[in-house]
Amino acid sequence: MTFRAPVSEYEFLLNHVVGYDAIPATDRFAEATSDVVSAILNEAGKMCGEVMAPLQRNGDLTPAYLENGVLRTSPGFGDGFKAIAEGGWIGMSAPEEYGGMGLPLTVATAVNEMMAGACLSLQLAPLMSQGQIEALEHHASDAIKELYLPKLISGEWSGTMNLTEPQAGSDVGALSSKAVPNGDGTYAVSGQKIFISWGDNDFCGNICHLVLARLPDGGPGTKGISLFLVPKFLPDADGNPGKANDLKVVSLEHKMGLHGSPTCVMQYDGAIGWLVGAEHGGMAAMFTMMNNARLGVGGQGVGAGEGAYQHALAYALERKQGRTASGTIVDHADVRRMLMEMKAELFASRAILLACAQAIDMQAATGDKTWASRAAFLTPIAKAFGTDTGIRVAETGVQVHGGMGFIEESGAAQYCRDVRVTAIYEGTNGIQSMDLVARKMMDGGEMASALIDEIEEQAERARATHPNMAESVWQACESLREATEWLVSQQDMQDRFAGSVPYLRAFARVLGGHYHLAAAMADQGGPREKLARFYITRMLPEHSGLLAHAQAGAAGTFALSLEELAG
Ligand SMILES: Cc1cc2nc3c(=O)[nH]c(=O)nc-3n(C[C@H](O)[C@H](O)[C@H](O)COP(=O)(O)OP(=O)(O)OC[C@H]3O[C@@H](n4cnc5c(N)ncnc54)[C@H](O)[C@@H]3O)c2cc1C
Repeated sequence: MTFRAPVSEYEFLLNHVVGYDAIPATDRFAEATSDVVSAILNEAGKMCGEVMAPLQRNGDLTPAYLENGVLRTSPGFGDGFKAIAEGGWIGMSAPEEYGGMGLPLTVATAVNEMMAGACLSLQLAPLMSQGQIEALEHHASDAIKELYLPKLISGEWSGTMNLTEPQAGSDVGALSSKAVPNGDGTYAVSGQKIFISWGDNDFCGNICHLVLARLPDGGPGTKGISLFLVPKFLPDADGNPGKANDLKVVSLEHKMGLHGSPTCVMQYDGAIGWLVGAEHGGMAAMFTMMNNARLGVGGQGVGAGEGAYQHALAYALERKQGRTASGTIVDHADVRRMLMEMKAELFASRAILLACAQAIDMQAATGDKTWASRAAFLTPIAKAFGTDTGIRVAETGVQVHGGMGFIEESGAAQYCRDVRVTAIYEGTNGIQSMDLVARKMMDGGEMASALIDEIEEQAERARATHPNMAESVWQACESLREATEWLVSQQDMQDRFAGSVPYLRAFARVLGGHYHLAAAMADQGGPREKLARFYITRMLPEHSGLLAHAQAGAAGTFALSLEELAG
């Protein structure tokens, strides 16, 4: 099946829904006008359809493997990565002085999502490099930046991110990898890291690992962690890959999906590394990478969902079963319901993704702290809702296929298996939700309130043309405001945490209503108005059940004893 990058959807969202025009109105991004962005999206879309999409099945059917310690990637992945690199898509938002395009993250987010829709497991490779580029740009010494950034941006070298250890997953502070100063400005890094995405490949000249480890005087917990850049090959005097470093891929994980992306167990045995950021300041540096990656993973969810949707629609248009006007299943009401839900949900999650990216760009361009708080608040929502959407849409895609959905040849199941991990890595969606109701509400709910005000203001304006839809969004907003006030007033954090996932989902539902309403106003009588009506009438009401759950407190979740849970 061919993949068609959703370029026109992006153009509509940027120009009519999320207010992209604020970005080129800044000095920093003055050149990234809508016309330029359209040309970029079209070019990227072509690459996604022609180069990446044909590789999607290869990754699943012929996974990466280790041959005598050498990692072999899926057929065509090397050429695919080269095409991504040559198109400049790795360094889209990286600084121009190091060879990047200097584009807004909003544009990079759109392109990343399209690449994820075409081939998720390959797209993860440039995504990892992008996160590393951003971390080095902000925290590394000039010498490191000058050597590594051009090579990472050009795709000559690739980047990884090493946090997880067997005993340290969500609790990164429990890690035990060590780093000892060598006395010459370098460090000897030792320890085992698990689940390292693209921990090796056979198409880049060097693999650069960002590794979290503890210095001898590093205290316990996250405050005692430092970040090190540990390359597979030590650069020689000319900056070319030289002697092999003391690290290796011990094994590859056997996964339920995303087979084209090698997930490595990495062993570091006194490997030479360079400090990035301050001693014991590793988490601050890593957070730069993680925030970028969280938005990126949200985009992976939406992208995979888009691929699954296109797959399901193509099947529904061909499959003959039962008596319908067209003779195919696409005219059964329940099949239409599924397709409409998929499309409406993708629209909502894509809009949230772009709104988050836009806030990051505006903060970078203006230095305004309000944009920074907005970006911080929207990041966990974009990550968790984007990936939940991808999973739900891919699962519905299987259902649209009927029995064929359960049969691997149809390709529908691959979307389901591949996208499932996006709710787990880069901070599980549970951890994202806790972040939303705790750290992101340390302002007493101010940012949540500001967003709610904004949604209500638009709903007031929409009353003139879309009174019913506007009223539904306005009412949903009031319920969200009440729930937010309830959450903020809870002293026992367990009461907030117990309802954090339904709260995040409800917030996303209401934001989805907001962006659909904007689309309805911009496309009166058009398909986006019809889709908005579907979402606001049939999907937005879900917020009320979610908010009831969000405000129920922790006691009920602990109501059963451990014996009763097992009983
Ligand atoms: C395919 C794949 C690729 C990955 N790639 C990378 C990578 O490139 N680099 C890297 O460093 N890591 C990577 N990871 C690791 C990933 O980030 C972790 O798996 C994830 O952070 C969860 O950690 P864990 O697996 O130890 O689960 P756990 O932390 O054990 O979590 C188990 C469950 O408990 C919940 N939980 C844990 N702590 C809390 C808490 N405090 N409050 C509430 N609930 C909690 C979780 O939400 C989850 O539901 C990858 C994982 C996979 C599967």
